[in-house]
Amino acid sequence: MEFDAVLCCGCGACANVCPTDAISWIKNDEGFSEPHIDQGACVDCGLCRKVCPYETSHVGVDASPKVYAALHRDLDVVMNSSSGGVFTALSDHVLDQGGVVYGVAFDDAYEVRYVRASDRTARDAFRGSKYVQCDGEDMFSQVEKDLADGLLVMFTGTPCQVSGLKRYLQVKKVPMGRLLTVDNICHGVASPLVWDAYLAYIRSNVLRGSRIERLSMRSKQVSWQEQQMACVTDAGDESAALNHGASWNKLYQTTYAIRPSCSQCRYTSYDRVSDLTLADYWNIENAKLNIDYAHGVNLVLVNTRAGEDLLDSCADLLQTAQSDKASCWQVHLEKPLPLSAKRDRFWRDFGMDPQQAVKAYGKGSRLIDLARKVTPVLRRVGLYSLAVRVFSAVRGTKKA
Ligand SMILES: Cc1cc2nc3c(=O)[nH]c(=O)nc-3n(C[C@H](O)[C@H](O)[C@H](O)COP(=O)(O)OP(=O)(O)OC[C@H]3O[C@@H](n4cnc5c(N)ncnc54)[C@H](O)[C@@H]3O)c2cc1C
Repeated sequence: MEFDAVLCCGCGACANVCPTDAISWIKNDEGFSEPHIDQGACVDCGLCRKVCPYETSHVGVDASPKVYAALHRDLDVVMNSSSGGVFTALSDHVLDQGGVVYGVAFDDAYEVRYVRASDRTARDAFRGSKYVQCDGEDMFSQVEKDLADGLLVMFTGTPCQVSGLKRYLQVKKVPMGRLLTVDNICHGVASPLVWDAYLAYIRSNVLRGSRIERLSMRSKQVSWQEQQMACVTDAGDESAALNHGASWNKLYQTTYAIRPSCSQCRYTSYDRVSDLTLADYWNIENAKLNIDYAHGVNLVLVNTRAGEDLLDSCADLLQTAQSDKASCWQVHLEKPLPLSAKRDRFWRDFGMDPQQAVKAYGKGSRLIDLARKVTPVLRRVGLYSLAVRVFSAVRGTKKA
């Protein structure tokens, strides 16, 4: 097998499926996991290519999923979720059936981890988007085992992770009748190495030794649409210091730390790989729907019959309003994010002094600051979709 670092999304399906264990998983210089192939052990069976989510593309493929705006009826759930808390309703239903849910949580050190939850307490840790790539490790074989044991399984992740899982199960001939998949519209995943440097920077320079008790990349303290961070320590609330100083969210939005393969994403389309797709319903003001979106609202794309049944089962827990493709459009339903022209400069500076780099680049970029300021106005006057199309066309691009 040949390996292309730019086209590897890091889902891990190839290493999981390899029959001779010829593929091991290593961290590259940017901190992303990628396969290392022992050519001596490789028998050229081709299974690694078969399971690779980048062997096919959905870009430019149209589809007509049912489109909804939705949010949880419990305000507490909405406030603790990134968007409208639909994930909690779906996963509650699966747990109530005795099923298990796979999702991404912070561990005690605030590293991101894939976790298998069989109860609400473990599941609650999945709430809130973590804008960092999470390695699946042995998740695919755990899902395989759960399905073999007859459990109902709900797997949540980025579209490439979901695709990697489904291709893996297909190759292993595992029946998928008890598998439900939920992906997100995806802006890209950032480097865990840069996240580590960010944590080290805030621990020594902002939190000054106090212990993090709660960290969120999608705090709603100011508003759902602001996308601010929250950080509460044993010494108090440090959220303002992060949002006004070096912020992970601002660094994430510059795209400097995003995995190169995200610029070649194969899944930016209405043609989805999952039963349901969850996202923020960013353009809700113009959708003219009778739904209360003040504290966050999901865009839900219903892609399969199983997805429709799952959403129907949660009807009592959710407020929903049917919408349409044109109203809910956002850029990553059409094309991947371009890599920034300043990406190389970021990585050069990061190589010299990681903490200084996250401090400097965590202030964001002027262009993105401007975009964030004008976005609410554009939404109010109904020019959001047009402006995003123009912005994404002029934004600095660079081939990976
Ligand atoms: C990396 C990333 C990029 C995103 N980009 C966009 C975007 O461009 N546009 C948009 O509208 N929405 C985007 N989303 C989706 C959005 O942020 C919400 O996750 C989604 O709307 C679900 O919200 P909720 O309130 O229902 O769920 P929440 O309760 O917030 O649940 C979060 C869900 O996300 C999963 N998750 C959290 N972190 C990760 C991770 N690192 N990798 C994989 N899965 C994770 C959890 O397992 C859980 O299923 C993105 C999410 C992620 C994780």
